Amino acid sequence: KDFRNSVKPNWCPGCGDFSVQTAIQRACANVGLEPEDVVIVSGIGCSGRISGYINAYGFHGIHGRALPIAQGIKLANRNLTVIAAGGDGDGFAIGMSHTIHAIRRNLDITYIVMDNQIYGLTKGQTSPTSAFGFETKSTPYGSIEAPVTPLELALAAGATFVAQGFSSDLKGLVHIIEEGIKHKGFAFINVFSPCVTFNKVNTYDWFKENLVSLDTIEGYDPTDRIQAMKTVMEHKALVTGIIYQRKDIPSYEERIPGFKDVPLAHQDLRLSEEDFQELVKEFM
Ligand code: SF4
Repeated sequence: KDFRNSVKPNWCPGCGDFSVQTAIQRACANVGLEPEDVVIVSGIGCSGRISGYINAYGFHGIHGRALPIAQGIKLANRNLTVIAAGGDGDGFAIGMSHTIHAIRRNLDITYIVMDNQIYGLTKGQTSPTSAFGFETKSTPYGSIEAPVTPLELALAAGATFVAQGFSSDLKGLVHIIEEGIKHKGFAFINVFSPCVTFNKVNTYDWFKENLVSLDTIEGYDPTDRIQAMKTVMEHKALVTGIIYQRKDIPSYEERIPGFKDVPLAHQDLRLSEEDFQELVKEFM
């Protein structure tokens, strides 16, 4: 079960995405998956390259469309473990509506956002998660937009699994991704994955100073959505761990009447002569 391949990532040395790649590889192996069981679907951006760096099926999609592709794959073959991955620009700008609708549908997919609060591939512009006042090439006088808060967004959209990790905490990240893969529904995982080249504010040191692990909050109950939202807001979303999980909601696939376990490619989709004649009658 080796999810490593021989492709050398062309991320900048120190980029947080390396840890996400390693965490996905370890989590898949730890939950007992084989490379042929897994599909990694990505969008566009530095993080979008990840689908080529893992020994599994990979689909490098188009900008903001990792989730529609991932949902299509899951519906065509529910036996596959589908992991969608992308950046904050991919998921919360052009792909924002897909993110919200995928969350509320609750397909059994794991979605990992590598959130570095900047557009790295295009060399450093403000992204939807950049803080108010953040200075970049596109906002030389500071961002005048309120940032998207991914955890609040996911909780408000009805997510059944919400977690947040940090690239520097590989052990914690592997655990979160393992739980996300095991979750029978849509698992939303935001990862603070620093862009060491263009984001000189939200650095590894900055996160180490500001992040709070949920393990240190006494009596925290990840099944309580109101407490989850309150905690996220109180800590300005700078928390790590499994923030919320609800296990009693069926996945989208389970709610489709007559949905078959057998992948589409293995189903006999030919109509019997009788059914064909019935169908023809409907158009007469
Ligand atoms: Fe990573 Fe930033 Fe380099 Fe892109 S530009 S590879 S996000 S460090």
